[in-house]
Amino acid sequence: MPDALLSTRALVAHYGDFQALFGVSIDVQPEEVVAIIGANGAGKTTFMRSITGLIRNRPEMVVWKGQAIGGLRADQVAHLGIAMVPEGRQLFQSLSVEENLIIGGQMGRKGPWSLKTVQDLFPILKERRHVPATALSGGQQQMVAIGRALMANPEILLFDEISLGLAPIVIKSIYEALPAIIGEGMSAIIVEQDIAKAVSVSDRVYCLQEGRISLQGRPDELTREAISAAYFGV
Ligand code: ATP
Repeated sequence: MPDALLSTRALVAHYGDFQALFGVSIDVQPEEVVAIIGANGAGKTTFMRSITGLIRNRPEMVVWKGQAIGGLRADQVAHLGIAMVPEGRQLFQSLSVEENLIIGGQMGRKGPWSLKTVQDLFPILKERRHVPATALSGGQQQMVAIGRALMANPEILLFDEISLGLAPIVIKSIYEALPAIIGEGMSAIIVEQDIAKAVSVSDRVYCLQEGRISLQGRPDELTREAISAAYFGV
């Protein structure tokens, strides 16, 4: 195994007295797409927020290219090349589509993604560039959120609930665009409640159940029964 790009090591997370994660350890190799699946409340969002510095941990609990980064702030993590498409998009609603994208560019590094290449990927974002983000449909807002993350030219892209609340046709088109989005040289963690979707695009799958990893493996190693048991705890 080559050295992992990103690892979590016995990651724990608390909200006050409530413990949401109990020692979660995963590895993401360079250029690997990893899916994290799990039911409502399993801890998927908490896990992603712990990686991106929105929830701070002990440094050694998150390791990026051999460096302990668990104590860094979100802006410091972004500059390392880790970007997230958050659950619920979380756009700057009063700003235009283009302004939202430009802000993403200010968070990260130089690279192939720019306003032009993002607009080439999602032409509707060029057409509607002066419109406030609130005026867009849910699917178009998701494209802005993806574009904003790409503008930072990350080495790893974290997608939290990519298909939540979107129409099936929009979900399909976003999943079809995923290979172009992730592209060569980039890794991804995809958090999904839709097991089939997650498994179809990933190299490896981890199932999170009540704050613990209950199953892991390559999609071809995991039976439907094993996934159901790990997902629902039955
Ligand atoms: P969902 O798909 O519903 O977002 P999830 O797998 O992403 O679920 P989390 O949102 O990470 O799960 O939540 C994990 C646990 O932590 C849940 O029991 C949730 O109620 C709790 N939790 C999440 N955020 C907070 C918070 N700010 N304060 C207290 N408890 C929280």
